[in-house]
Amino acid sequence: MITNFHTHTALCHHAVGMPPDYIAAAEREGCSGLGFSDHAPLPDRIWQAARMTPSQAPGYMKAVREAGKDAGFPVYAGFECEWHPQFKNWITDFLLGELKADFLVYGPHWVKEGDEFLWIGELTERSQVYRYTDLTVEGIQSGLFSYIAHPDILMSNWRSWDGDARACLGAVIDAAVASGLPLEINGNGLERPLIQGDSGPRHPYPVREFWELALERGAQVICNSDAHYPEAVISAALKAHEFAAEIGCVPLETPRFRKAAAEGLI
Ligand SMILES: [Zn+2]
Ligand SMILES: [Zn+2]
Repeated sequence: MITNFHTHTALCHHAVGMPPDYIAAAEREGCSGLGFSDHAPLPDRIWQAARMTPSQAPGYMKAVREAGKDAGFPVYAGFECEWHPQFKNWITDFLLGELKADFLVYGPHWVKEGDEFLWIGELTERSQVYRYTDLTVEGIQSGLFSYIAHPDILMSNWRSWDGDARACLGAVIDAAVASGLPLEINGNGLERPLIQGDSGPRHPYPVREFWELALERGAQVICNSDAHYPEAVISAALKAHEFAAEIGCVPLETPRFRKAAAEGLI
């Protein structure tokens, strides 16, 4: 019986299945707690190809709540959310305030360049990677999130565990430890094709060197599937648990949900 707090739905246009499909699969495979965290809607049609629209969000929340009523385990409705200071009010007023999301996952997928938000896979310059790090640390310190999804996703594009990777991701780890935020071992990364790293073929993420550093610095760890199809909802989380066992870490079962209202943020 394991938990998973990272689940998508067809609303993000790159996953299949709706809440009842994921809940049914989780029931079959043995689940003790399930969190939905589809990509949060953003205002102004930003990155709309990979997320629901703001007008779809109330229906998403309702679908998770209704499907979760008869589940044999607790079901939570949340979002995987980008951070940029320009969206702070959007996150607090709309996602947490109006929609009453149970939790928000910090998905650090971008950096701002001019008026554009660049996807992490497009970062080629050192300066971009350092700016990405600053933004990610700021997101961690915002106090809005309950854990950090795939904190080593930078390594899907930065092929070498070099001084820059260590400095940037070390800063992410330190910020997470200081804020008490768990780091996620992401099962979806373990299902992706291997890429060529500097020390041979590896998964785009999770990356062993990152996790060894995270453990050395006392990070809390959570294992999730990041399911984009129902059959992965528990099976990919189990892969994340296997990875955790290999590096000798004992993951948390459930993240502590940050209650933004209680903490005076909204
Ligand atoms: Zn993500
Ligand atoms: Zn995700």
